[in-house]
Amino acid sequence: MTSQQPIKEPSFRESVDMMFNRAVALMDLSPGLEEKIRVCNATYTVRFGVRLRGAIHTFTGYRSVHSEHMEPVKGGIRFAMAVNQDEVEALAALMTYKCALVEAPFGGSKGGLRINPGDWDDHEMELITRRFAYELIKRDLINPAQNVPAPDMGTGEREMAWIADQYKRMNTTDINGAACVTGKPPNAGGIAGRVEATGRGVQYALQEFFRHPEDIAVAGLSGKLEGKRIIVQGLGNVGYHAAKFLSDEDGALITGVIERDGALHNEKGIDVEAVRAWIVKHGGVSGFPDASHRADGATLLEAECDILIPAALEGVINMENAPRIEAPLIIEAANGPVTAGADEILRDKGCVIIPDMYANAGGVTVSYFEWVKNLSHIRFGRMQRRQEEARHQLVVDELERLSSDKGLGWSLSPNFKEKYLRGADELELVRSGLDDTMRAAYQAMREVWHSRDDVHDLRTAAYLVSIRKVADSYRAKGL
Ligand code: NAD
Repeated sequence: MTSQQPIKEPSFRESVDMMFNRAVALMDLSPGLEEKIRVCNATYTVRFGVRLRGAIHTFTGYRSVHSEHMEPVKGGIRFAMAVNQDEVEALAALMTYKCALVEAPFGGSKGGLRINPGDWDDHEMELITRRFAYELIKRDLINPAQNVPAPDMGTGEREMAWIADQYKRMNTTDINGAACVTGKPPNAGGIAGRVEATGRGVQYALQEFFRHPEDIAVAGLSGKLEGKRIIVQGLGNVGYHAAKFLSDEDGALITGVIERDGALHNEKGIDVEAVRAWIVKHGGVSGFPDASHRADGATLLEAECDILIPAALEGVINMENAPRIEAPLIIEAANGPVTAGADEILRDKGCVIIPDMYANAGGVTVSYFEWVKNLSHIRFGRMQRRQEEARHQLVVDELERLSSDKGLGWSLSPNFKEKYLRGADELELVRSGLDDTMRAAYQAMREVWHSRDDVHDLRTAAYLVSIRKVADSYRAKGL
């Protein structure tokens, strides 16, 4: 395959643009529409002061809107010191393509605040988050109909609850106020299964990949997910849940965990729950007893394994270390972990990459369900659950009556009865919707991957599917 490796490492946004350009070169879009889709519509930068510890501290935040072909636009808010305009714009662009790929009816957006959450106590974080939210809300950059944030690195349910409350204080008559942000805790309008949704989506993506023997063979692997050796980078929200589900439910072995303070390695498998508890108690992985530790954690990305899951931050697999990466299959749980240059190197090596815009789309998918729940003001399953149970009970009663009337001697196993009679609650419906979404999006990508001679990888296929959908939306608007 011809290699168009960049000479120097591109920035995150340049990387996303290069991948976009590679895909769009295979399409027949007009140059004008191509550019309209690629560019970021607007990025708002805000610098605001908060009085803390007797002094005024100034913080810098961003909210970038990449594409408004559908509204509201959607995308997480990140709290980290490395947040910058290039990063939020790259992440906003990925949100556009991600939402299109999984058919979540949103445009793409992203936000960030340059802050180290560890520097501030809970009350201070609340003041800072509310003030940032205030700045965005008053410009409609947080609004149920226009721009709906969600959690990302450094933020979670707690911050989303503060943002929702701030919105409601500023818009007291908006009956749909809860839908201004997703990823809220269940008692503040959240939905069951949102916290683990992105990690769950990574699991469903891998399950779907392993349903296709031809795809497994392209990666040079064989068999099932069970027993596969997995290295995970970042045991935060996404990495922890993905690693936990893959080991507990699919029988995969987590052989490596890479965190800020180094990496753990054990070919026999690492107990994810125990490492998580260790991190919570000790602030890092160092000293964890049941695995070897190396201080230069990033070198474990290069270790031999079956599946590599970068779930921390962007750019960790780059032109410098890509030639040494041994994993035959990489699933991008984080956004942008593989740079455009590294992507070329890895593809030339035959590595299969399940791309970020698909792999971590579980979060926005369940956020979509949460937004719909908030707008409909009713929990999923509330109307149907008992009716479904009553109908199933009729079938069970009838089968048992037939068995006794006709002397057939049948009996339904208690396990079957219990499972069959139980109506679906919100969590089950969310999982079903997420699984369906991940399967359908994978099918859409793989169809393009396998049906076109000029498409050699899943990332290009994913871009082709999503750019086509975005282009169709723009055309329908008359552009
Ligand atoms: P998080 O803050 O919960 O976790 C990040 C983890 O990575 C932390 O454990 C942190 O210690 C670790 N980490 C940070 N720097 C590291 C480094 N240099 N080396 C190793 N580990 C490091 O964040 P998250 O929400 O899990 O997000 C992780 C990635 O997933 C991001 O790229 C984010 O954009 C993406 N993502 C998150 C969601 C979501 O729902 N939270 C959805 C889609 C995509």
